[in-house]
Amino acid sequence: MGKITGFLEYQREDRDYEPVAERIHHWREFVLPLPVEDYVTQAARCMNCGVPYCMGTGSLAPASPGCPVNNQIPDWNDLVYNGNWDEAARNLHSTNNFPEVTGRVCPAPCEASCTLNIDDNPVTIKSIECAIADRAIAQGLKPEPPAACTGKKVAIVGSGPAGLACAQQLARAGHEVHVYERWAKAGGLLRYGIPDFKMEKHHVDRRVAQMEAEGVAFHYGAHVGVNVAAEKLVADYDAVVLAGGAEKPRDLPVPGRELKGIHFAMDFLPQQNRRVSGEKADDGEPILATGKHVVVIGGGDTGSDCIGTAFRQGALSVTNFEIMPEPPAHENKLLTWPDWPLKLRTSSSHEEGAERDFAVMTTKFSGENGAVKKLHCVRVDDKMKAIPGSKFEISADLVLLAMGFVHPVHEGMLKSLGLALDPRGNVNATTDDYRTSIDKIFAAGDMRRGQSLVVWAIREGRQAAQAVDKFLMGSTSLPR
Ligand SMILES: Cc1cc2nc3c(=O)[nH]c(=O)nc-3n(C[C@H](O)[C@H](O)[C@H](O)COP(=O)(O)OP(=O)(O)OC[C@H]3O[C@@H](n4cnc5c(N)ncnc54)[C@H](O)[C@@H]3O)c2cc1C
Ligand code: SF4
Repeated sequence: MGKITGFLEYQREDRDYEPVAERIHHWREFVLPLPVEDYVTQAARCMNCGVPYCMGTGSLAPASPGCPVNNQIPDWNDLVYNGNWDEAARNLHSTNNFPEVTGRVCPAPCEASCTLNIDDNPVTIKSIECAIADRAIAQGLKPEPPAACTGKKVAIVGSGPAGLACAQQLARAGHEVHVYERWAKAGGLLRYGIPDFKMEKHHVDRRVAQMEAEGVAFHYGAHVGVNVAAEKLVADYDAVVLAGGAEKPRDLPVPGRELKGIHFAMDFLPQQNRRVSGEKADDGEPILATGKHVVVIGGGDTGSDCIGTAFRQGALSVTNFEIMPEPPAHENKLLTWPDWPLKLRTSSSHEEGAERDFAVMTTKFSGENGAVKKLHCVRVDDKMKAIPGSKFEISADLVLLAMGFVHPVHEGMLKSLGLALDPRGNVNATTDDYRTSIDKIFAAGDMRRGQSLVVWAIREGRQAAQAVDKFLMGSTSLPR
């Protein structure tokens, strides 16, 4: 514990944002780091609690308290307070392969579980994590190639955070690792879903370069089940890890859905991310919010990213509909702490000027000349039943569907392998050993657990790597 009275002496301070009027004119990250001495005082607020819920309990429940990768938060807070940033970085990397990523995009369940959050004043864990990672990276990210090779070959399908974490762990354990990715670059949703204003892509490029130096081979444009036979991977490798994400979007099958101008979020966001990076791709007619009235349906992270992107493209207005009722602005700590509470969350994109409306169901789209012009909506109660007399209409030239993802894409790889699925349509495998219904095939990340978070994908990638290493070698020294 850094300073015994730190939490009494120092108030919580966190990173600020560039003003809205400035940030909506560029695509760069807009979170302003704190001066280094402020991280030291913020770290001093950590009380090193007897039960540090922030570190996570190891529970598998999605709403379990604390950090899913079990970052050793009180330890690195103490190290930062004592100026030992190098050891803090070593400690942080022992549990998290990509802390500069989680330090930017994680919703920070650790902070919800912090004891000081009982008083709404949690330690700024995420910002301290980001500062430790950024500082270590500024000094040069060194590859950690294995001391010896095992002679075993592993194929990983998908280069999102789950595939990347799994690949890095397995390469460091001495296996020959090949990552197969259908897109032109690595990163999965880190690169093509999450906009640059939340996380610039050089963070992904840097890790990919580190992994290449550690021996990982990346095969791009390799769509397993389409232009690479899944069965061939199974035949050619000692183990195969499926980390292809949960890419099947939830649709809104109401009259008028076929009108032009209604798109899934993941048809819209990757186009912009490619535009920013200059990547050429055949991704169809450009979908742009410029000069349009935009409605985003879905109140989660994906919807929020559509809002921020639409504003930066020059939308005239952005309205965000959510079918669930508006959650309370403040949680009842006695009922929720240290778990992740249901409460109203306002993202930086919402703050950029979106109109938010809750408990709204869209029942129909109508248009002119084949293009969407209006949404026909009704207000619903907490059982999602239409409230009589509450119908209304809203004009829109662009509608973005961001209502989540139902499960992985079944056509192609999963069907051709004939893998068993769980009742939700995800690849069936438990977190005990990540093994699927077919010998030597493993699954991790959103492909196994369903749509989730980056930090859970990293956890699953690491744990699947440990399971694969044990399967290949009989024992493992990789951490779980
Ligand atoms: C728009 C958006 C914003 C988000 N924002 C956040 C956020 O701010 N914070 C957060 O924690 N989480 C966020 N999430 C969720 C998070 O991104 C995912 O939970 C996480 O990326 C899942 O990681 P993954 O590795 O399992 O899969 P993915 O990141 O989906 O990666 C899967 C990869 O597999 C590849 N692939 C799939 N099938 C094949 C195949 N057959 N052959 C070859 N390659 C294949 C895909 O091209 C992709 O690159 C967001 C999600 C979206 C959609
Ligand atoms: S990865 Fe997320 S939950 Fe874990 S310490 Fe970082 S911000 Fe907190």
